[in-house]
Amino acid sequence: MNVHLRMLGCRLNQAEIERMARQLTAQGHTIVEDPALADQIIVNTCAVTHDAVRGSRKLVRQLHRSSTEAELTVTGCYAQLEPEALRALPGVTRVVGNEDKDQLVSTLTGQPVDAYDQEPIQRETNGVGAGRTRAFVKVQDGCDNACTFCVTTVARGAGRSRPLADVLREVDLLVAMGYQEIVLTGVHLGSYGHDLGDVNGLMHLVQAILAETDAPRLRLSSLEPWDLAPEFFSLWQDARLCRHLHLPLQSGCDATLRRMARRTTQAQFGALVRQARQISDDMCITSDIIVGFPGETNEEFETSLAFVEAMDFAGLHVFRYSKRPGTAAARMRGHVDEATSRERSARMMAHADAQAQRYAERFTGQALDVLWEQVAGATDRGFVNIGYTDNYIRVRCIHPRALTNHIVPAQLDAYDVEQRQMHGTPILD
Ligand code: SF4
Repeated sequence: MNVHLRMLGCRLNQAEIERMARQLTAQGHTIVEDPALADQIIVNTCAVTHDAVRGSRKLVRQLHRSSTEAELTVTGCYAQLEPEALRALPGVTRVVGNEDKDQLVSTLTGQPVDAYDQEPIQRETNGVGAGRTRAFVKVQDGCDNACTFCVTTVARGAGRSRPLADVLREVDLLVAMGYQEIVLTGVHLGSYGHDLGDVNGLMHLVQAILAETDAPRLRLSSLEPWDLAPEFFSLWQDARLCRHLHLPLQSGCDATLRRMARRTTQAQFGALVRQARQISDDMCITSDIIVGFPGETNEEFETSLAFVEAMDFAGLHVFRYSKRPGTAAARMRGHVDEATSRERSARMMAHADAQAQRYAERFTGQALDVLWEQVAGATDRGFVNIGYTDNYIRVRCIHPRALTNHIVPAQLDAYDVEQRQMHGTPILD
């Protein structure tokens, strides 16, 4: 069977679709890039914002038009939250909620999903899955928090962790397939193991992966700031753990944080960032911020902006608040008008760009290891290689060789404001 796979949204959705690809390949099916060649199409949708829902609906329609014969299976958070709305779209064969997603492949094919049958996968993917160099590994799903703006906790249910041995087996497989970097992901990654009775579950998982696998690099995806115990920072004694912490702040104002039901404050978040920088002054600390949250006054926004400035992040995702049905915030008073929300977003993004440039330029003239991830073109001087350092600086270089999926040091020369990346010179023998 020819299967075409698509996803929108977060790294967890990406990890899930990549895992489906490996499971289908292990069963002898073929993953096709062109939906017109597919017998079966699977879409992993997102519903975190209005735009995500619009994007999910648009993709489902497009895929049906591109292959009217193929069966069209839709899963993911939008499928979980609004299955009937999806069933009403033309060509949708079946809608599978998040709680049944892990069994989706065996449901579709009627074949059991072998834990990890390496041979077909290695044969099929020539050592690296779909040209990827970084593998996203889902270790946890669901969340037990109740941030008032968040629909994910509604769509993904209670927190639940994969057994540690299962994760280690998957990491071993991915390393054997040639992946150079493993990215641990989940809805609430920091709560890994809590449901298994281990409050330090994530720390123990990272320790096990570093001790028992040959993963060249290990990266942690988003971590809620209240999840990091002081001893967690000892993990960075191992240089294979990327110096990158993505800590969603969401607002830099305590009053707004309270209405968001976020379990952190300016003081707590600031202390955590200082702790991380004591471990490594070069630690890349990135974050997420919402502007225009219900009740956010001009004063609150200015407080949030000033705090973001003080935190001096290396990168910041700025979101305009999106009212999501079923969330507590949707029922709050004081929703901010569109124009104000856009103006605040533009100001916050300007700060974010300046901070990202400031962080990257600190490494000008230094040589850092880069995992080269793709070739983005060619010039008469060679291939345009793009990659990331462990502290998440995007680097571009021109070299006679395509360096994809190799970790090669590069001297960082200059920052490209437009492309938000450093130009570098690879250091090869
Ligand atoms: S921690 Fe909050 S924002 Fe994150 S998934 Fe849970 S409820 Fe949503």
